[in-house]
Amino acid sequence: MDRHRLTCGDRNGTKQRAELSPVTMRWFFPGVFILGAVLAIGVWRGLMPVPPEWNPWAPLDLRGEENFLTWFKLKRLARDPPLCAAALSTAGMRYSPVPNGAIGGKCPLENVVRIDDLGPVHLSGSFLSTCPLAAALVLFTRHTLEPEARAHFGQEVVELDHLGSYACRNVYNRPQGRLSQHAGANALDVSGFRLGNGTRIVISRDWEVDDERSKFLHDVARGACRSFSVVLTPDYNAAHHNHFHLDMSPFWYCP
Ligand SMILES: [Zn+2]
Repeated sequence: MDRHRLTCGDRNGTKQRAELSPVTMRWFFPGVFILGAVLAIGVWRGLMPVPPEWNPWAPLDLRGEENFLTWFKLKRLARDPPLCAAALSTAGMRYSPVPNGAIGGKCPLENVVRIDDLGPVHLSGSFLSTCPLAAALVLFTRHTLEPEARAHFGQEVVELDHLGSYACRNVYNRPQGRLSQHAGANALDVSGFRLGNGTRIVISRDWEVDDERSKFLHDVARGACRSFSVVLTPDYNAAHHNHFHLDMSPFWYCP
C-alpha cells in the first residue's frame, strides 16, 4: 500500500516528515507534465477558452495591462511579422508600414514602420523602427514613462525627444566588427522628454543632477528594462552621456 503521510504534527505535538512511496514519486512528475501538456494543447487549439491576456499564443494587446506573459509575447513578435503587425494595430499610435527593402542600400530594412507619434506622446521627429521595437516603445510609454511622469511631477508626457534610430553602421562606428542594432532600425536613442507644463527633461543635463528630474530619469531607465532587451544609460560609458540607447536585440542587458 502506498504511504501518503502528509500531516505536519501528531497528537504528541511531534512533527513528522511527509513521505511518499516510490510508486507515487515515480508517477508524480510525469503526471504533472502530462497534465500541463494537455492544458497547454487545450489552450493552444482553442479547446479551453481563456482570456487573451492569459493565452500565450494570443496576439499581444498593446492596450492591455502587463503580466508575466507580456515579455514572452513581445519576444515572439520578432519571429512573426504578421503577429507583430496585428499587435501594432492595437497600439493607438500613428505609423505607416515601410515595404521590405524599400530603404537601406547596404543595410536593407525589413519588418519596419515609420512612427509619427506614440498616441498622446509626440516625437521630436518621425523615425524608422522595426515592428518589435515599435511595440516595445508603446509598452514603455504606457507602463513606464507616463506613470513615472505622473508620480514624479503630476504631469503628462507630451513629447519624446530622440537622436534617431536607423544608421547603417557598426557598433560604436568601428570600421570592423558587428553591425549595430541601429543598422536594422532596431534601436532608438532617446535624449529627453517634455511634460505638459512645458518642463523639459534633458538626459545630458539632468541625469547626474540631484533633483526630481534625475530621479525620474533613473526610474524611467529601470522601468525600460521591462520592455526592451538592452537599455544603456549615461552610466554605461561616455558615448551614452546624452541618451538612453533602447534596443530589441536577441541579447539582454539592463543597468
Ligand atoms: Zn544607440
